[in-house]
Amino acid sequence: MLSISLGLPEFKVIKHELLSYGYAIHVEKTETQERCPHCGFATSSVHDRRTRKVRDLAIFHQPVYLFVKVKRYRCWNCSQVFSASLESISPNQHYTNRFCGYLYELCEGTTIQEVSRKHRIPYTTLERIYYSIASKKAKERQTAIEASSQEGMVLSLDEIAVKKGHQYETVLMDARAGSVMGMHADRQCDSAINLLSQNILSKEMVQTVILDMWEPYHKAVRSLFPSASIVIDKYHVVQKVTQALDQARKEFSPLKKARYLLLKGCEKLRKDQRLRLDDILEEYPTLSIAYYLKELFRDFYRTDGYNEAKERLEEWIKLAKQSPFASFQEAANTLERWKEPILSYFLCPYTNARIEGTNHKIKNIKRRAYGYRNLERFRLRVFLECTGNTTGSQAA
Ligand SMILES: [Zn+2]
Repeated sequence: MLSISLGLPEFKVIKHELLSYGYAIHVEKTETQERCPHCGFATSSVHDRRTRKVRDLAIFHQPVYLFVKVKRYRCWNCSQVFSASLESISPNQHYTNRFCGYLYELCEGTTIQEVSRKHRIPYTTLERIYYSIASKKAKERQTAIEASSQEGMVLSLDEIAVKKGHQYETVLMDARAGSVMGMHADRQCDSAINLLSQNILSKEMVQTVILDMWEPYHKAVRSLFPSASIVIDKYHVVQKVTQALDQARKEFSPLKKARYLLLKGCEKLRKDQRLRLDDILEEYPTLSIAYYLKELFRDFYRTDGYNEAKERLEEWIKLAKQSPFASFQEAANTLERWKEPILSYFLCPYTNARIEGTNHKIKNIKRRAYGYRNLERFRLRVFLECTGNTTGSQAA
């Protein structure tokens, strides 16, 4: 018979056998005296012994069950009876702590249901184990974030649709790391304030916040961090202009199939696509104005320096207002209203690009769980799994 090394130094193995359901390993604590939890005196006077059956990590793909002989002691000082404490097994738990940790890791990146089925652990048990470890880990991560945060932080507030029918959650991220710092219900000003009121986010600490053109977020940031610069995310701005072009295209009914050619960046088209685009623009000269406005706007973001960018943006707004398209006139008004924070990009060139990957992860978590009914648990998962690169490597 193989000798078994458990790797649990508090126990010695008394005997082990391979049964039909896996390994049965009988163990007891090496320590023969115990400190009374009531008065603190050490005692070795055994009152009785009980056996607990707990599942442990598999050996050679065989399930392992520990039969732990647990002594109960009677304190000679205060006469209380108490059980020997165990480091590797929590009270009332049918699994060793390390087995629980293993189950937790299995659940990362998949569903509890999946792991429950595959490893034959009752769903409710696994759920309890997962969320008890998850909330401990969330606290650890919060502490790590607090320890690593420093001056000059760049934050991002964005919305994410959590349910069909546009139910939104506000997500706060560390824009440099792309890691989620918290989530809150809806996208109102109060929710944003709630998220931004974390202890670690002091006025001195937060230098830049990236937002889209959603007034409640701006209001929240201005009230908490009056001296931070607000930058409107470049992609949200470009999207406004692209949408204006798409609206304009719809006025020309035969152009249903031309959507891709028109919206795609001109330099990304193949030669034959470019020729086809030229034909379209020649055939519809009015539309070519809209197309030109879109490409001109992309040039604006390629500008170097604040002053030149400001000139170009003002010029663009003027041209768009003069154009025959309601959609461009509307876009011009929006951009005029948000001109200052749009131009701040040229002073602090941050975008939400790093966050795109994180958004993708959040959507995966959501899909996996068929839309979490329990939003708290959804947020906890997002917080734990979307840690970004920086925090992830620190934890490793
Ligand atoms: Zn005692």
